[in-house]
Amino acid sequence: MAASVLVIGGAGYIGSHMVKMLARSGDRVAVFDNLSTGHRDAIGGADFVEGDLRVRSDIARAFAGRQIDVVLHFAACCYVGESVQEPAKYYANNVVGTLNLLDAMREAKVRRLVFSSTCATYGDPVSLPMAEDHPQQPVNPYGMTKLAAERAMADYGRAYGLGTVALRYFNAAGCDPEGELGERHDPETHLIPLVLREALRVRAGGNPADTQLQVFGDDFDTPDGTCVRDYVHIADLCAAHLKAMERLSGGGRCGFEAFNLGTGTGYSVKEVIETCRRVSGQDIRYRISGRRAGDPARLVAGAGRARGELGWVPEFNDLTAIVATSWGWFGRLSP
Ligand code: UDP
Repeated sequence: MAASVLVIGGAGYIGSHMVKMLARSGDRVAVFDNLSTGHRDAIGGADFVEGDLRVRSDIARAFAGRQIDVVLHFAACCYVGESVQEPAKYYANNVVGTLNLLDAMREAKVRRLVFSSTCATYGDPVSLPMAEDHPQQPVNPYGMTKLAAERAMADYGRAYGLGTVALRYFNAAGCDPEGELGERHDPETHLIPLVLREALRVRAGGNPADTQLQVFGDDFDTPDGTCVRDYVHIADLCAAHLKAMERLSGGGRCGFEAFNLGTGTGYSVKEVIETCRRVSGQDIRYRISGRRAGDPARLVAGAGRARGELGWVPEFNDLTAIVATSWGWFGRLSP
């Protein structure tokens, strides 16, 4: 059945892909975003409320006059390194902002929430793959703020009847398979976009030997010494949100549940670069530099719960297919 959905952070990388998928499935969509990192042109014709989650009256305005069935909450600051340098920004956006949202939902009597959480809430792996019952001991302020938000949702569930599905993403990757939406971060820090930007530079005639691409450490305890991550395609992440919405709409479910979103397969940084080289056909080179603070050697999801209980089956199971969608977007840009 069509739902009326409020997408917080709907103009960002993942949110904008979600807005497109919701519109296609016939849902009514309103977007709330402060456009700090998002793009106004990424939400198509969706109803738009410009505002900042840190301002209570802004988020109250998004609920006024709208009958909302479910909220999808994507808005957050999400860079591990920056969170160490500027924790105040992360606590304000990710914790205070989320509390303002939860209170606005209480006031508006909206009781269904799908929350973008992260494997960073687990911290360093004590076992792999990491299932949902892995200890949650974040090792940086980003993970800590997302965990604080999860805890608030669980407490609000018990006290006020809020139903939350938290989706703990591993490494979100890829772009709209139709090539309409992409990844536009500034500054860019993520591996696949940086590698593909290097491919663009070489394609435009840049000397491959002048590469600025860095591999952060090749002395980890992994088969080729570089970090292993579980890359999950953005369309699969969005599809999981639709499954989570279905779960919340069944039988007035309240309380808090969490699901990992990953494929269960890990790829090393060198494997990612090799895949980008094959997909783009460019001579991509790199330099080995020191480790980046806070990078565990391996992060791979135990994703059985999402498959078993949400019926979520990722369609993009292989890295080449994921990178091909990114190249479909980046390949059209100039360097
Ligand atoms: N990485 C790298 N060089 C870069 C950017 C990232 O070697 O320029 C590595 C990073 O250390 C990590 C992996 O690539 O092991 C994925 O990093 P990304 O920032 O894409 O995602 P994260 O795992 O931090 O969410």
